[in-house]
Amino acid sequence: MSEHVDVAVVGAGPGGSTTAFRLARAGARVLLVDRARFPRDKPCGGGLTTRATRLQPIDVSPVVEDAVDRIDLRLRYGRVVRHRVDAPLALMTQRRRLDAHLAQAAAAAGADFRDGVRVRDIEMSPSGGVLSLEGGDRIAADVVIGADGANGISGRALGLGADRSFGVALEGNAPMTPEREAWHRSRATLEMGTVPGGYAWVFPKGDHINLGVGGWQAEGPRLRDHLEVLCRAHGVDPSELSEVRGHRLPLRRAWSGVARGRAAVVGDAAGLIDPLSGDGMFEAFLSSELVSEAVLDLLSGRAEGLEPYGRRLQLSLAGHAATAWAARAALERIPSATWHVLRSRWAARFLAHRLATRPPEVEVPLIGGVERAARRALGPAAA
Ligand SMILES: Cc1cc2nc3c(=O)[nH]c(=O)nc-3n(C[C@H](O)[C@H](O)[C@H](O)COP(=O)(O)OP(=O)(O)OC[C@H]3O[C@@H](n4cnc5c(N)ncnc54)[C@H](O)[C@@H]3O)c2cc1C
Repeated sequence: MSEHVDVAVVGAGPGGSTTAFRLARAGARVLLVDRARFPRDKPCGGGLTTRATRLQPIDVSPVVEDAVDRIDLRLRYGRVVRHRVDAPLALMTQRRRLDAHLAQAAAAAGADFRDGVRVRDIEMSPSGGVLSLEGGDRIAADVVIGADGANGISGRALGLGADRSFGVALEGNAPMTPEREAWHRSRATLEMGTVPGGYAWVFPKGDHINLGVGGWQAEGPRLRDHLEVLCRAHGVDPSELSEVRGHRLPLRRAWSGVARGRAAVVGDAAGLIDPLSGDGMFEAFLSSELVSEAVLDLLSGRAEGLEPYGRRLQLSLAGHAATAWAARAALERIPSATWHVLRSRWAARFLAHRLATRPPEVEVPLIGGVERAARRALGPAAA
C-alpha cells in the first residue's frame, strides 16, 4: 500500500467537504473521495438556514439564488399565516452548484479531492484505517471520517451512526413564470398537516421553484400523490415538474454512537437530520466543525481518540433534537391547536431564532426519555 494520508473523508456532500476544508486549511494531509462525478445533484430543497450559513466556513454567496425573509405556514391547504422577518431566514441554493463549490473550496485549501471513486469498504485498527476503493486501490489513513450520507457504507463498516430511523422526501422543479416570480420570490411556503410525519414546501430559486413533500418512510408509496396535490394547490401542472427525485432522511436516536477511536461519522451518515424541519445541512456543518476540532486534537497528540466529538455533538444537539421531537408530536397529534400557536408573533420569533441560532452546548438530563416519549406518541412509523 503506497498511499498514506492523515485523514480520509468518505463523501463530498456539505458534511464531508467542509470537514476536508477545515482540516486541510489547518495543515493536515486530507483525502476527500466521492463515488459521484462532480458536479452532481442530491435530492434536497437546497435551503441553507441562517444557522447553517453562519456555521460553515466557506463563502457561499457565488451559489445563492434567493434569500427568504417571508414564510407562509398553511394548515391542510386552508388557513394560512404569513410571517415576515427583518433578516433572511434562509438562503436558497441548488445542491448541484453548492456541493461543487464546497468541494472545490476544500481542494483549493489543499485537500486531495477525487470524484468518481467509490469506497467499497473500510477496515479500522487501533492505529488507523484502510479504505478499499472500487478498482482495487487501498489507501491508509490515520483517521477516517464517514460523510457518505443516508445510503453510504461507513455506518455499517465503522459500526457507527447505524441506529437510525428514516423519513423519506420527494421533490421536483417547475419553471419560474412571471406570476410565480411575483408570489414566490423571497418567500418559503410550508404546508403543514398534509403529509403524515412531515410537510410539503415550495422554495424559490433563480429560474425555477422547488416543490417537495416529506414524511415517514412508510409514506413513500404515496409521495407522488402528495406532490401532485401540492403542485395543484400552487397552480403547477404536475407534468411541468422536472428532475423529480426522492431520498431518505436519516433520524438518529439520541443514544446512538458517532465516534470510536480513529473513526467518526458526520451529517446524514450520523443520522443528524432535524426531526422537526427535516433539514440537515446545519447539522452537517456543525458535526464537521466539532469533528475537525477532535481530529486536530488527535493528530497533535492532545487526545487519544475521537470520542470527545461524540460528547460535544450530544451536548449541542440532544436538547435541540428532543424539542424537535416534542414539537413534531404536537403537530401530528393536535395539528389545529399547534397551528394556532404557530400563528402568534411569539412563534414567528421562536422560529426565526431557531433557524438563526446555533444551540448552546448544555447537559440536559433525561433527554433520551423525551425523544422516546415523543416517538411513542407518534406511533409505529416513528419507532
Ligand atoms: C428531498 C430532500 C430535501 C431536503 N431539503 C433540505 C433543505 O432544504 N435544507 C437542508 O438543510 N437540508 C435538506 N435536506 C437534508 C440534506 O439534503 C442532507 O441533510 C444533507 O445532504 C446531508 O449532507 P451530507 O454531507 O451528510 O451527505 P450527502 O449530501 O448525502 O453527501 C454524501 C456524499 O457521499 C457520497 N457517497 C455515498 N456513498 C459513497 C461511497 N461508498 N464512496 C464514496 N462516496 C460516497 C455521495 O455521492 C454524496 O456525494 C433535504 C433532504 C431531502 C431528501
